[in-house]
Parts: sequence; C-alpha cells; structure tokens
Amino acid sequence: MSAQILDLFPVVVKPFLAKSEQETVVEPVSAKINLLDLDRKGLETFFTNLGEKKFRAQQMIQWIHQRGIDDVESMSDLGKKLRLCLQESTEIRAPEIVKEQGSADGTYKWLLRLEGGNHIETVFIPEKERGTLCVSSQIGCALNCTFCSTATQGFNRNLTVAEIIGQVWQASRRLKILGSNVKITNVVMMGMGEPLLNYDAVIKAMSLMRDDHAYALPARRVTLSTSGVVPYIERLSREADVALAISLHAPNDTLRTSLVPINKKYPIAMLMAACHQFVNDKRGRHVVIEYVMLKDVNDSEREAKQLVKLLAGLPCKINLIPFNPFLGAEYKRSTPEAIDAFSRRLKKAGFITTVRKTRGDDIDAACGQLVGKMMDRTKRNARFLAKQGVAHG
Ligand code: SF4
Repeated sequence: MSAQILDLFPVVVKPFLAKSEQETVVEPVSAKINLLDLDRKGLETFFTNLGEKKFRAQQMIQWIHQRGIDDVESMSDLGKKLRLCLQESTEIRAPEIVKEQGSADGTYKWLLRLEGGNHIETVFIPEKERGTLCVSSQIGCALNCTFCSTATQGFNRNLTVAEIIGQVWQASRRLKILGSNVKITNVVMMGMGEPLLNYDAVIKAMSLMRDDHAYALPARRVTLSTSGVVPYIERLSREADVALAISLHAPNDTLRTSLVPINKKYPIAMLMAACHQFVNDKRGRHVVIEYVMLKDVNDSEREAKQLVKLLAGLPCKINLIPFNPFLGAEYKRSTPEAIDAFSRRLKKAGFITTVRKTRGDDIDAACGQLVGKMMDRTKRNARFLAKQGVAHG
C-alpha cells in the first residue's frame, strides 16, 4: 500500500473544545482502507494512486451508496485484477445495526455499534411526502446543553466519515429490506453531537449525501444543526452547500448561556451576524431557528417579543420544539396553551412558525432523547447519575 493511500486513513480526529476532550485516537480494527471513509475526492485520489482512472471513483460511489453493495466481488464493471487488489487492501464497513425498534407511528430507531464498543442511535421519521433521517456526528457531546439528554451522557469522540455516512447507508439498506414505501429524502445532522466540532468528517459525509451518484439529496434537504460554533458557521457557508439550522432556544444572552453554555464563548450577537452572513452568501436561503419550549423558562410573552426583535430582518423559519422530558431532566414541557400563544405571537409578527410534532415517543426516538451507549471520557455521566442517586454501572 502506498504512503499516499495510508495517508487517507482517518485515524486521528481532533474535537474542538477542552484540552481533556481532545486528541481522541480511533484505532482501526483492520489495516484495510474503509472505502466508506472516502468521499468523491478521496476516492479519486485513492484510484489515481492505484494507477487507475478517476472515473473509478464514480463507479465505486454508485456501487456503495446508490446500490448499497459492500462486496467488491459483485462490482462487475471493475475488472478482475482491480477487484482482487481492492479485496486485499480495502473493505466497506459501516457501523453494525445491533438493535432495531419500530414505533407505532412508523418511526424507526437503530442502535449502531462502533469500533471501541461505543454505540450511537439513528432515527428515521417517515411523513406523507418525505422521510427524514436524523444522523449523529459524535459519540455523546461535549457542549453540555442543560435541556439535552445526550449531554448527560458526556463525550467520547468524533465519528469518522464512515460512521457518519454509514448511518445513511445502513438506514437506506434496512428501509429497502423492510419494504418501506418512504425513502430517505432529508437528512438532518441533529442526532448526538455538535456537527461543527467534527467539521472535516461531517463535510465529507454531507458531500456524499449531496453527490448525484450517491444519495443525490438537494442542498435544502441536507441540514446541519448547530448550537452556534460561530467560526465554523462562517466556514460552512463558504465550503458546503447545505441548509443551516440554529439551536437558539433563548432570545437573550443570560437565558441562552444557562441553556446552551457555548453561548458564553459565542454570544447571540456574534451568532446572529454569522446567520446573516450565511443567508447573504446563499441567496434565496433561510435559516431554521430551533427553539425548545421549556415551561416557565423561555416560553413567556416577554421571550416571544424579544425573539421577534432579535430575528427581525433575518430570512428564517422558526421551529418550536415541545421539550421531551428524560430521567433526571430539570425542565418540563411548556403547556399546549403556552406553545400556542408563543407561536401565534411569532406568526403575527410575520414569521413562518411550526410546532414540531413529537414522533417515536414509544421508542424514545423523539428529538433530544437520543443517547446511545457509550464510554464517557468526561465523567459527566457518572456525575449526572450520582446527582440522581443512581449507581453508575
Ligand atoms: S443540544 Fe446538541 S450541542 Fe447541545 S449538548 Fe445536546 S447534542 Fe450537544
């Protein structure tokens, strides 16, 4: 195997925040190159280094992502010699589905096992005219938003490209096998983790979601949701053509910092400036503003008025998310009356406002309830359980 080919192997990932949470090394379980780790550019380099033509990359993308094939031997247009070489030096290995749960409302949740014994969850939500897959970007999350169930689990590491796009790959294959008449038409990077803190891998995985010969999803149907890592929002607007959602949840800094601690580093004014820049760069686009509805915390008329003022002039849609309680949560869901009043005030001010329907309640697949099973490197989970009086097993 050439040095260039070995260079393609993503063994070191560097999350962004605290020192103690950096430099996570993902030890490969095999010396083979996982072709799921390579986007179009990576595959082109890979095949060029093998002395092959660039168009092999497209053939490979079609086999893997369009047809869901993981067996090189079946790739009939590759030639015997090349297939043999690929069998020796590469593999196509996605996270393994270890549990599948189907909800009464058609939602599916999959528990996927990763290298190193960690697990993540991926959820598919079918609707009348679309099917949305909610994809994770990290094992746990380091950002500690106080209303988020994932945050109580702590953080382990960033996912690799193969582990991110592998969620789409596995879900597409399973849906085909299950005979689902709804396909994946939308992907939202809203599962476990802050996607912008795993920027390089997320960008590559999203480029495959968008690739015409892979999943061919239009730009507006691949959404990256961030809690507001401002420098990376600016990069994203330059380097990727996808939709942006902001987990805002509060209209002023004091309240937002108490809910989304990263607000201390990137306060609302900086975040709003980045949003305006994003929509200026992507003409005709809007930003989705996510706002979790927490009883007596951020759901009064005062916050609604502040939100109207804050978002004035920003092309956006507002998505109100009734809070989904979890064990030990310190918040309650806003009453339907409070959500309705909040929504009406926003609509009256001219904002397109929707209230997210809770889906997959019976299988804990609702928004903010994805937890996976992971080894926490931050010890936050042990502290959380101790606070609840639960023995840490
Ligand atoms: S809401 Fe998102 S960014 Fe905040 S802790 Fe949860 S997963 Fe992380």
